[in-house]
Amino acid sequence: MMSLEKNVIDLSRVVSSRDALRILPPAMARRLGVLPIMIADEKLYVVMEDGEDYLVLSQLENLVGLPVIVLKPKTPESVTVFIRKYYPEQVSELDGTPLGLLEEIVFRAMLSRSSDIHFDPERDNGYIRLRIDGMIRVEQTLPLAGMNELISAVKVSSGLNIAEHRIPQDGQLTLWIGNDEISMRVATVPTLYGEKMTLRILATESTLSELAELDMLGMNEQHLQLFLDTLESSHGVILLSGPTGSGKTTTLYAALRHLKKPGTLHILSIEDPVEIPLDGINQIRIDSERIDFNRALRSTLRHDPDVIMIGEIRDAETADIAIKSSLTGHLVLSTLHANDSVGVIARLLNLGVVPELVNSALRLVIAQRLVRSPCPHCVRLEPPSTVDREFFGWNNDAEMLVPKTAGCPLCNQTGYAGRLGLYEMIPVDRNVREMVRNKESEDALSHYLFNDRSLLTLRADGAEKIRKGLTTPEEVKRVVYLNDK
Ligand SMILES: [Zn+2]
Repeated sequence: MMSLEKNVIDLSRVVSSRDALRILPPAMARRLGVLPIMIADEKLYVVMEDGEDYLVLSQLENLVGLPVIVLKPKTPESVTVFIRKYYPEQVSELDGTPLGLLEEIVFRAMLSRSSDIHFDPERDNGYIRLRIDGMIRVEQTLPLAGMNELISAVKVSSGLNIAEHRIPQDGQLTLWIGNDEISMRVATVPTLYGEKMTLRILATESTLSELAELDMLGMNEQHLQLFLDTLESSHGVILLSGPTGSGKTTTLYAALRHLKKPGTLHILSIEDPVEIPLDGINQIRIDSERIDFNRALRSTLRHDPDVIMIGEIRDAETADIAIKSSLTGHLVLSTLHANDSVGVIARLLNLGVVPELVNSALRLVIAQRLVRSPCPHCVRLEPPSTVDREFFGWNNDAEMLVPKTAGCPLCNQTGYAGRLGLYEMIPVDRNVREMVRNKESEDALSHYLFNDRSLLTLRADGAEKIRKGLTTPEEVKRVVYLNDK
């Protein structure tokens, strides 16, 4: 294993393993000020409130019957916070029941920043899988009978028909864990070996808060400055594009949170559905059966908003209203489906927005993707492969090294911990307007932006981030390869 002894551990990016947590009773962990991290090579790795307290250390070794290795926390004051997080004061009375197990699973899913929990019955066993940083992994295995009990308990709690196993069902579940109220969307579907269940954890402003500051998204300095400057505009349109799971919503919400901070702007959003409730913002939920999107959008203008966020522009009418309202003194933020930033302009024109309107309204176009960051505890550096040198344009840099992931217990052998965004941003300048007016091709526009103006493409932003050790060549290729220009 790696030389963890001298490694500094970042508690906000690793999750303690189940077997490590179980080895120390909660009351003892809180009294000793110790947080177990993992068990590896028959040693217990911990962080301590006072790592120099040898009396506590020997007490701990006696208690657990294993040699203990003390890791240095990146921020020492966070140890107490994380001990409370892992060992909440309120002990569940449901221990040993299916609902107790559910609480434990949801608790671990929250700690590991999972977005979804899957209960998958298969031929031999039931598998509980978590989606963490966009990737699925097995968290726990249960006998099939235990899995069925668990699924039934969730069905009861989320208002589903417990007797019905043959048709898909949808419901909603809310759990209190410690002081956090966790809401989840529940869905079942029959599979070959029984009913499968998926829980989508709905973000809340408090679960979002660590991530959703604009300067935490991974934008480089120029991108961040450009975005902030554009958000200062009193009117105009900012459009984001990217496939599902590329972090568009997080960026939009971060922008709204930034805009609402001074408390001087009236912010309205129209969403389908409202993904995260935000204090201080009037969020209108579209329910296609009752409220028509475009009518809602038109009526928002009568409510005197300074900023309007539109979840997604899907059709010509929405595009038209969005653009026109931005011209009458509103800042409009929205997303639009396109492969890259230049494709956004082409898509607007395809939707029938006339070039003059695009030109007078559009301020900034952003394309984005999410990539994973290498685990700081097991990452190594090595020279890039010939293919990567070619792909990222590193042929002239003989000395350069790139992160290579390995995998260790702290990242569950995945080699990765945490994510950040890749961005491509095009400010709509006089030349872009000229080219849109003349109906020049996407290629010509790309050439001007990325060659003449040397703006960063997603791939170039990725190359910079690899060089800084923030992500790996594999990750950048995974998200930009297919539709890179
Ligand atoms: Zn690792």
